[in-house]
Parts: sequence; structure tokens; C-alpha cells
Amino acid sequence: MRAVVFTAEKRLAIEDRDIPIPGFKEILIKTAAVGICGTDTHVFDGEFEGTVFPLVPGHEATGTIIEMGAGVSRGVCDFAIGDRVAVNPSTTCGECEFCLNGHHNLCRFWNGLGVVASDGAAQEYFLAPAHNVYRLKSDTDIFHAALIEPLACAIRGWDVLPRRLGDHVLVYGSGTMGLLMAQLATRAGAASVSIVDLNTERLATAADCGIRNRFTSPDEADRKKWDVVIDCTGSISAIEDGLTRVKPAGFFQNFGVAPTHKTANYSPFRVYRDEISIVGTMAVLNSFGRAVEMFEAGVINAAAMISHSFTMDDYSVALEMFRSGQGRKLQIRPHDTESRVLVP
Ligand SMILES: [Zn+2]
Ligand SMILES: [Zn+2]
Repeated sequence: MRAVVFTAEKRLAIEDRDIPIPGFKEILIKTAAVGICGTDTHVFDGEFEGTVFPLVPGHEATGTIIEMGAGVSRGVCDFAIGDRVAVNPSTTCGECEFCLNGHHNLCRFWNGLGVVASDGAAQEYFLAPAHNVYRLKSDTDIFHAALIEPLACAIRGWDVLPRRLGDHVLVYGSGTMGLLMAQLATRAGAASVSIVDLNTERLATAADCGIRNRFTSPDEADRKKWDVVIDCTGSISAIEDGLTRVKPAGFFQNFGVAPTHKTANYSPFRVYRDEISIVGTMAVLNSFGRAVEMFEAGVINAAAMISHSFTMDDYSVALEMFRSGQGRKLQIRPHDTESRVLVP
């Protein structure tokens, strides 16, 4: 089989490899689709903490079960060959202080398939631990379903925000995560959802996803403050601006990944005086199963969010396109023979 391999920092190759054999409690999956996100560029550039090269990238994946290793308890999970599945890429040690206290996403030995030390899904077949595998309904679009992994991160994001009916929510960044957080805001009870992005093409995607208030700056909005402000850009200027837009008793969330060593300025006096809560959120925590259910309930407009699919040979084209900010969600489909434009 063929595999995309990050052989070293900033080096990529297509390799021929043996199809892996599932070990104890492992499942072999024929890959359908793999989303590309900012994490992949950080891994490729050698900027992700702990990455061990060579590594097959790909952590936002779906596929079909081909084979199950010993110990996969069919009684509990009831998996069968041919099941369509989505895969939670996070694996944790289960033994550190944070795992033992229920904060698995903060595990000191956190490992993500395609991110740290285990191969991901940008190959024709990949292995996943059985407890990371979630079955999809037979009529769920297996390509669109690769959005379930980022959706699981977004649900975790909402888990640490208040769910109060009638809140006004402002999201910075109309990329995949901003669009997911904004679409979930409606479900979380928001009276209004606004999204800002400097890139008007990205705002067009927000329109397709049903987000009514779209601005290149919050100054264009008919309100000055919001109950919940979510940064999905990681940009320091957006974060600094966003903090000033939070209503008293409101929440600000750092969802976007800011550069590791950058700092932002804010007014501690205002945070004190107005009881502003600043909250972080990291990856997936007990939210993958709910993401499957929300996705299958049609909560997000996946068709509007995925613009291009690429063959494995075009992986570097996809990575460059992602970096340039073009397109919407980009996917690798390892069994495809041609790359395609899905939303022009
Ligand atoms: Zn991702
Ligand atoms: Zn741990």
C-alpha cells in the first residue's frame, strides 16, 4: 500500500509499505478521507511538541473496518468488518495525574495518531486502538464525516463555556473551527451569532453555513459587546481585540492555537471589575461520541465546508493550499486517482 510519510522536519515522501497487521485491541481501517488542518503544518514544520519522525500524518479520519485484532470486544462495541467508522486520534497514558483525574486531553504523555509518535491516516490503510473507533450509520457520508474530529474539539470547546439561552456570541475566524463553533452556538442557545474574518471568501463559507452576521471587523456590528467571544484564529491582535468586546460577566475563549511563545495584552482591572472569565480548551475530552451524534443529526453543513479533495500524490499541493488560506476544508482521499474541486 502507499503512504504519505513525513520523513523528517519539512520533508515528505510517498512510500510503499506493507499493510499493517492489527495487534491486541487494534482495528485495521481502509481510509476514506483525511482532513488537513493547521496541526499538520505544525507537525510538518517540526513545531509540534514531541513529534517523532518518520510519521504518517492524518488525524481527522474516516474509513471502513477491514480487520480486527485479538481482544476487540464485539460484545461491547459490536463492530463488524465493513463498518464505516470515524476515529478519535487522541491516545493517552491513563496513568498520569491528569488522566487519573479525568483530564485525559491534558495527559503528559498525550499521543495523537498522525501528530506525535503513532502513524496517522494519510495512507491507504491505518491502525487505530479499538476504543478510539466510532461506528457511523450506514447512510452517513463517509467523506463529510471526517469533520467529526474537529467537531469533537468544538464540542469540548462548548463544554467549558456557559450554555445560557439568549447569549450573543462572537467568533473570530471563519476557518473550520470558527465555523464549527459558530454553528454549535445556535444549538447552545445563542440569540445571535456573529463571525469576523479579514478574508471575505471565508465569510462566504459562513454564509453558506447559515451564519447571518458576518463582518471583517466587529466595528461593523450593531452591538458593541457580546456575552461570549471565541477566538479561533490564534492571532494575537484578534485575541487582544476580542477581550475588549466581552460584556461584563461574559466569557472569552482561547480556542485558536497562538504561537507558543507569544504573549497578549489585556486589562487585568477589567477582568476583575467586570468578572470576565477567560477559558482555554484543548482537543477532545469525552466529546467524540457526542460529535458523531451531532454530525449525524445534521447540526453542521459539511457539504459547504469541504472544498477540495486530493490524492496522496498531491499531499504537498494540499499543504501549500492550506497555508495560502485558499479553499475551505481540504481533504486527502488516499484511494482516489484524481484530485477534485468540490466547492468552486
Ligand atoms: Zn486537525
Ligand atoms: Zn496521562
